[in-house]
Amino acid sequence: MYSRRQANPYGGQGGGYNRRGRGGGSGRFKFMLMIGLAMAAFQTFKFFTNTQTNPVTGEAQRVTWTTEEEVQLGLQSAPQMAAQHGGLHPDQEAQELLDRVGERLSRSEVVQKSGYPYDFHLLADDKVVNAFALPGGQTFITAALFARLENEDQLAGVMGHEIGHVIHRHGAVRTAKSNFIQGLIQSVMIGSGGDHSMAQIANVVGQYANMKYGRDQELESDDWGVRLMMEAGYDPLQMIKVMDILEEASGGAGNRPEFQSTHPSPENRRQKILDCVEKYKNQGY
Ligand SMILES: [Zn+2]
Repeated sequence: MYSRRQANPYGGQGGGYNRRGRGGGSGRFKFMLMIGLAMAAFQTFKFFTNTQTNPVTGEAQRVTWTTEEEVQLGLQSAPQMAAQHGGLHPDQEAQELLDRVGERLSRSEVVQKSGYPYDFHLLADDKVVNAFALPGGQTFITAALFARLENEDQLAGVMGHEIGHVIHRHGAVRTAKSNFIQGLIQSVMIGSGGDHSMAQIANVVGQYANMKYGRDQELESDDWGVRLMMEAGYDPLQMIKVMDILEEASGGAGNRPEFQSTHPSPENRRQKILDCVEKYKNQGY
């Protein structure tokens, strides 16, 4: 009897602990949800009244984050994003090559003008062929994609495309469209922002980073990729080869990377890339 009572409270405690654990998480989540909702009205107002002029492209964008917030979120989310892809790749030589290419691309005057501190991370993931960017300048390429590339020019094409997403603030524009996400992130940033909260933010931002962008955003980033390749003295036609490599890599696999959106179709994308090369050649690049 004693031992049964002993066993029961133990079991009960275990269950209680689990429930408390879950309940606590959901309580916190509800609390954050409430803050998020409370801020949603304000965010909605802000969303429709606040536009920022992109310092590089000059377009008016509905973005509620400041560039500093983008940088902060990107830096905070980067370790988690890396962890989701097996962490950083141990090959220092490969990382140095990536750094060199990234540095060469970001020497461009327009990239400097964007004001983001760019970082280029080689991830250990050798299964998922992907490259992506967090808001604020943190960019990533998986070992799986890195290994498929045949030369530095192609690597420049991939990273130039990702820099394009950062410059165009695609991540910030996308999250600005979600008042909930916006409220959640901002309430946590304003509030205590303990480790748990930061992990949640990193999760949310990370999920967004892995989502596909729209057709126009992909084409805009391809345009940037081509332009930055040409400015840095790389062969822009290698970007076409990147499309071939991505298409081949995605054959049959269910996992469609950010970089290779299903629309625009690779065919359309290749033609647009050729158009970009022509356009920038005419502009003297
Ligand atoms: Zn992209």
